[in-house]
Amino acid sequence: MKHILKFSSFLLIGSILLTSCKKDNTVMVDEISSETLAQIASHGFETDDVRKVNEGYIVEGDIVLTPEFLSQNPATGASLLRIANDEQYRTTNLVTALPRTITISVEGTLTGLAVWSNATDAFINRYNALGLQITLQRVSSGGNVKIVGFNEPASGGFITLGSAGFPSGGNPYHEIKMNTNAQAYGTNPNQGYITSVLQHEMGHCIGFRHTDYFSRSSCGKRKQNEGTAGVGAILIPGTPSGFDNESFMLACSAGTDRTFNSNDVIALGHLY
Ligand SMILES: [Zn+2]
Repeated sequence: MKHILKFSSFLLIGSILLTSCKKDNTVMVDEISSETLAQIASHGFETDDVRKVNEGYIVEGDIVLTPEFLSQNPATGASLLRIANDEQYRTTNLVTALPRTITISVEGTLTGLAVWSNATDAFINRYNALGLQITLQRVSSGGNVKIVGFNEPASGGFITLGSAGFPSGGNPYHEIKMNTNAQAYGTNPNQGYITSVLQHEMGHCIGFRHTDYFSRSSCGKRKQNEGTAGVGAILIPGTPSGFDNESFMLACSAGTDRTFNSNDVIALGHLY
């Protein structure tokens, strides 16, 4: 999940200059082969902002695509769940063998820090309150999903708040990374805000893409529709109408404690 710092033209110019001075960034972009970019595009992701990381590649700000994921056949339109016409929940792989319990721990540098621990309990409670076929359960260490810290300052006007990947082999993605840099959440992080980011990253871990993947409107961009949107989509009749701009799976955060909206609840209930 990215957080827009500011979108003034001044900052945009500043970020362009900043990028051109940073040779490290250029090298990282150059390292991504055209073959890999083609694979990323074939799975329906943006290729204009791809970053190489240890686990694979980060796209759309916070989604980790592993080499294993990229080597799979791209999902077809049937993986698209569209609600209320405008709000689209695009899933790739899902967690299977339901009902099941997914265990979650807070590890590494985040261990013992009250705000991360409390936010973890809070987001777990939000999922469990929906009565889904997946139940989240906190464990003291290990487990199916580990929440760990990383430290990375803002770059190009954006800061990465956290990252996660998609399920594989019917199991949830194994890790949520959260940025401990003070530029992400400040020196005294707000528990509700962290709760909402963890809730969002957990959404990726169980297969959710960004609700606004087709437009990235939450990031202040207006992208072209992918063109395939709606083809083979699972449409749920009788769902709320009108666009609700507060989905927990919007690509960019407004810096608030965003939780499930009514459409998110329908989508989660449909899939799990
Ligand atoms: Zn995300």
